[in-house]
Amino acid sequence: MALDELSVVLKARQLVNEVSPTIFPVDVNPFLKQANAVVKEQGDLAENEPGWSFQSNGKHYICINKFDNAERKRFTVFHELAHIILGLPSDHSSPTWSYAKKSINEIWCDIFAAELLLPYNLFKPFVDRSDYSLDAIGKLAMQFEASFTATGSRYAAVAAGPCAFILAEKGIVRYPSRSPVLRGARIWIPPKMELPMGSVSARVRNGKAIDGAEEIDPELWIANWNRDGVMLEEARHFPKRDQTLALLWLEEDELPEPGLRDRRTHEEEEQGLAELDGILPWPGKRRRR
Ligand SMILES: [Zn+2]
Repeated sequence: MALDELSVVLKARQLVNEVSPTIFPVDVNPFLKQANAVVKEQGDLAENEPGWSFQSNGKHYICINKFDNAERKRFTVFHELAHIILGLPSDHSSPTWSYAKKSINEIWCDIFAAELLLPYNLFKPFVDRSDYSLDAIGKLAMQFEASFTATGSRYAAVAAGPCAFILAEKGIVRYPSRSPVLRGARIWIPPKMELPMGSVSARVRNGKAIDGAEEIDPELWIANWNRDGVMLEEARHFPKRDQTLALLWLEEDELPEPGLRDRRTHEEEEQGLAELDGILPWPGKRRRR
């Protein structure tokens, strides 16, 4: 089977099912056992090199940077497990925190790692109970000992309502993660777009202090909107890496009626991830006006 995002997610979920973690932060050890892998701390890795892995006599060795913090080490172990299980070669030529030049294999390993760190069954109930806010995402990141970006992307990926988590670097959107309802409604946030002028994200990147969410025109973010409406946006900027993180959400009745939805299809949306989450793209009980 050729590898694509769907098969990466399926393989991760298969492994999560085998290990069936019941508590969080998720214990990495049963996953290591399942993959016949052990972890070694290494003291001579470069500052930007979180880890690598190799095989010897049928056993996998994951070497992690001794000087990284605990959260980073956890992610590295899960990321290297992905390389082992998916059989994908490493391309760690650009710094792992950077999304600007990340290769597709590395993105898949990150997605795989996030599935293990934030398992659907454990994570989703917390997402469903939370209010949309970056604070809520930050709290979940701490509870699950995962990075803010991984938690935010996964938050949108499993959220029941219409929301999206945006990761931008150097003012360019690198990774828009949309909730199943948004994907189902064919709401399209173009990757590689510039942070839209007037958006909260663009303003916080320009040094404006904005606390909490603001109402904005959905057209700022959504390429195929073409109607009235209100969207909420909350954003934070991290100047050191020039990264901007944003949460976008709207009321469900702001979404276009099914008949009016843009019928264009996009590569990313052909992969059936919405169905995988067990959430139908459109709730059956939705009434037509
Ligand atoms: Zn890698």
